[in-house]
Amino acid sequence: MIVVMSSGATEEQINMVMRKIEEYGLQVHPIFGVEKTIIGVIGDDKTKIVETMAGYPGVEKIIPILKPYKFAARETHPEDTIIQVGDVSIGGDHLTIMAGPCAVESREQILNVARMVKLAGGSVLRGGAYKPRTSPYSFQGLGEEGLKYLAEAREETGLPIVTELTDPRKMELFCNYADIIQVGARNMQNFVLLTEIGKSGHPVLLKRGPSSKIEDLLLAAEYIIKEGNSQIILCERGISTFETYTRNTLDLSAVAALKSLTHLPVVVDPSHAVGISSIVPSMCYAAVAAGADGLLIEIHPNPNSALCDGPQSLDFEKFYATMKTIRKVASAVGKKVG
Ligand code: PEP
Ligand code: MN
Repeated sequence: MIVVMSSGATEEQINMVMRKIEEYGLQVHPIFGVEKTIIGVIGDDKTKIVETMAGYPGVEKIIPILKPYKFAARETHPEDTIIQVGDVSIGGDHLTIMAGPCAVESREQILNVARMVKLAGGSVLRGGAYKPRTSPYSFQGLGEEGLKYLAEAREETGLPIVTELTDPRKMELFCNYADIIQVGARNMQNFVLLTEIGKSGHPVLLKRGPSSKIEDLLLAAEYIIKEGNSQIILCERGISTFETYTRNTLDLSAVAALKSLTHLPVVVDPSHAVGISSIVPSMCYAAVAAGADGLLIEIHPNPNSALCDGPQSLDFEKFYATMKTIRKVASAVGKKVG
């Protein structure tokens, strides 16, 4: 249930409505917009009682939210959420290009890549320091050392960094280094991790699990938003299907669906979706045309020698060329790159 306060509602009227809802034993979650305040009401079946408040001073209307994801639903918050990370805006009419290697491998590698991302017109640097690998014997990332190199790359280029957190016990460490915390596909339903990130209030990039439905992704976002953190970027990164030619199957219809179901920005990771670098550029263009608010692209100075995900990584030349076409598609659909 949401209570929409009229544009002229006073602070006193808003507080009165919230107090009354709490007296009913329900939880309130106000969103103070520029025009209007809307108050989310949580408490399962009991929320019906709020309908009796329709005539209260300052109340414009009361809308039942039927979706199981209450705060993530566009019904609750019709305008696009725009997430501000330093100078970078994510959502609305912005197209945010996030690029970098799968894993931070050395200081020199990440500094090189950061310079390339900046030169090509990208606005966020990606790179994993703690890698969730299928095999325990594969390279697991440089750990805190990797985070330090990322911070150095940010210092030099001014690019904010997105990096994956796999362990809720490292929350504080990540809040010190990461501008955006990535939740990997494998951890989309790690509810302890989601709740901790929710409490931290830190911007988060939440990837769709390979076998998760669109609704599962939105409910995972709800775990974060319910703690008061609505700085969530959703990421489509391909799902498991019977097809084995590509690493996963890029579900572009999910982008258009998510844009109508939720106010949160939606980005696409074409690299993990297809797993083959030659197919990545086409999927970048298609994702932008489908309405994505950004792209998360793996690039590497020398993909053949990458310690992780080389076959899907673009080299600098291909990334630069891809960016040129991305800009054309972005302008055709009314998005600004950056
Ligand atoms: C990654 O971004 O490097 C990664 C591991 O992605 P995913 O969680 O989508 O597999
Ligand atoms: Mn990767």
